Amino acid sequence: MEKITDFFGSMVFDDRIMKATLSDKVYRSLKRTIDKGTPLDISVANAVAAAMKEWAVEKGATHYTHWFQPMTGVTAEKHDSFISPAPDGRVIMEFSGKELVKGEPDASSFPSGGLRATFEARGYTAWDPTSYAFIKDGTLYIPTAFCSYTGEALDKKVPLLRSMAALNKQALRILKLFGNDKVKSVKTSVGPEQEYFLVDREMWKKRKDLIMTGRTLFGAMPPKGQEMDDHYFGSIKPRVAEYMADLDKELWKLGILAKTKHNEVAPAQHELAPIYDTTNIAADHNQLTMEVMQKVALRHNLVCLLHEKPFAGVNGSGKHNNWSISTDQGENLLSPGETPAENAQFLLFLVAVIKAVDDYQDLLRLSVATAGNDHRLGANEAPPAVISIFLGDELSAVLDAIESDKPYGGTKKEKMQLGVDVLPKFSKDSTDRNRTSPFAFTGNKFEFRMLGSSNSISCANIHLNAAVAEELKQFADKLEKAKDFNKALHDLIRKTIKEHKRIIFNGNGYDDAWIKEAEKRGLMNLKTTADAMPHICDKKNVDMLTSHGIFTEAEIQSRCEIMLENYIKTVNIEAVTMVDMARKEIIPAVAKFAADTAFAVSVKKSVSKAACKYETSVVTELSELIDEMDAATGKLEKAIADFKKQSSIIKASEFVRDTMLPAMDKLRSAADKAETITAETYWPFPAYDKLLFGV
Ligand code: ADP
Ligand code: MG
Repeated sequence: MEKITDFFGSMVFDDRIMKATLSDKVYRSLKRTIDKGTPLDISVANAVAAAMKEWAVEKGATHYTHWFQPMTGVTAEKHDSFISPAPDGRVIMEFSGKELVKGEPDASSFPSGGLRATFEARGYTAWDPTSYAFIKDGTLYIPTAFCSYTGEALDKKVPLLRSMAALNKQALRILKLFGNDKVKSVKTSVGPEQEYFLVDREMWKKRKDLIMTGRTLFGAMPPKGQEMDDHYFGSIKPRVAEYMADLDKELWKLGILAKTKHNEVAPAQHELAPIYDTTNIAADHNQLTMEVMQKVALRHNLVCLLHEKPFAGVNGSGKHNNWSISTDQGENLLSPGETPAENAQFLLFLVAVIKAVDDYQDLLRLSVATAGNDHRLGANEAPPAVISIFLGDELSAVLDAIESDKPYGGTKKEKMQLGVDVLPKFSKDSTDRNRTSPFAFTGNKFEFRMLGSSNSISCANIHLNAAVAEELKQFADKLEKAKDFNKALHDLIRKTIKEHKRIIFNGNGYDDAWIKEAEKRGLMNLKTTADAMPHICDKKNVDMLTSHGIFTEAEIQSRCEIMLENYIKTVNIEAVTMVDMARKEIIPAVAKFAADTAFAVSVKKSVSKAACKYETSVVTELSELIDEMDAATGKLEKAIADFKKQSSIIKASEFVRDTMLPAMDKLRSAADKAETITAETYWPFPAYDKLLFGV
């Protein structure tokens, strides 16, 4: 058997390969670009390109592509081969520095929310040397950022890099105040836990809804759902285990640190978690992971569903964004320290995050808002649509003590004087971890749990980094002016706790009582994408995002438009698919069963005095349901027609929320009822039990 250590990263042009294939001078120059962002000169780019090409061709690559993340959330690529004609009629393999550094995809069909129209007709991709190039399917992939010629971001990577830079800048100011001069850079790291479902491909093929929309639009609950909890962390079935092993291997070859795999709560649901990495790399790797997951599944005659809610009635899939801030000296700034100064610094970063989450609840909520994720958030499963922070009892008690100037109720019962006293040790509790909180402190990192399984992690991290950068900026502005630093620090932390503790909630987030309580506290409850998304254009959000150079105002507007467009298009496709399935598959099937049963009644009655109670009641009930389905389909068809008449994207999104989705629910509920009394052999596609327990 091959050793993992031998093939890990074998398809990646990583530091090892760079060192081995580049001259010392070129290597050092490239490293400076990677570490410090110094511009790369063309001779260096040429040398890197040549080495990359040699390496890639050696590994069997024939093409290269600039790989980027347009605002659709999926990745995009356009492949060019390395071939270049030689004078003698043959070809040579070529790849120049210019081709490495910059590409010009025909960008006209990527959504730009009006940006390109206003600014520039074409966009270009620019190499992101901080994320390694890699080979996949015979192509050299070059991670890039996608911009318009005037520098407007047309992708999710540019603003992510900008948000990391903003946080770096403000965090360095704070660290300086603590006398932390050695630190040269601060970065955020993310470990995204990825949930997914696996279904048998032959069954998948029979369901138009899964094919067209990634989720089931119809389906009654099977006799057994997830109530036994026997799947979670249960033993992995052989076919799934083979898939997971294959997947790990593919990911490892690409240098992705796939670490943990296990079954999730729902039947057929699983999870994969990598070891955390710098945020932009984690984002690239997560996109790649999602792609590879789907591709490898096909080899096993499986389909990997990344939709947030493939099945009604069982758990949906999310993505936990484990996030921390650390320095180039290896210090995790969200880790309680050993000395009074370290503790005070930790608390300042902690309250900065608390204030950020409170001030920018809407930005965090809308960063994960999609049609798919709306089925999870606030819909009777974790987490709710209301944002709150879980800190745990110990840390909450410390904050209480600081706020009220009362002794901390730890072992020594001492008054907490920041910068003087050592904080009591908190245990990194993993025992009573609150799993219902949207934003939980887990010892040395925060876990943002609202992301949907198919979301790019970029948006959430852009908004999170930006919001925290803003709070650190406010803090630094104040503290830099302070005469007595320790006193100012203490007052600032106290004041921040007082003003923002409403966002802290350590209880059960599923509980209806919490939603009422949250309303009392004035927290936002943005239930759907249509409710959440427009808030990105609120003045406070625009001011904050533009002041840190994360987005321009035009970029913000374009993003709002693109996200809403995604939302309405997604639901519209679902509605059209439902109509198609109802008219062409479900209603005819149910009608056939009812007709056959009715025929059986007449035949039976012609030869006997049988009462035919069962048949009669089935025929009656199904006939009613057929009419109900027909009427509901008619209403949905009308909604689809009216949808087209909406005058603005905002109106269209509200129409989808208020009219289209309820009409879909009505049709589904009638069809699901019919399913429970229709003979299985008549049902036109595989039911939930086959899908959920069929692998
Ligand atoms: P779980 O939440 O399932 O109990 P863990 O807490 O062990 O699992 O880790 C979940 C994810 O958090 C993993 O991807 C892990 O690499 C990541 N993680 C661990 N420490 C950090 C950190 N300091 N910063 C960011 N992510 C982290
Ligand atoms: Mg977790």
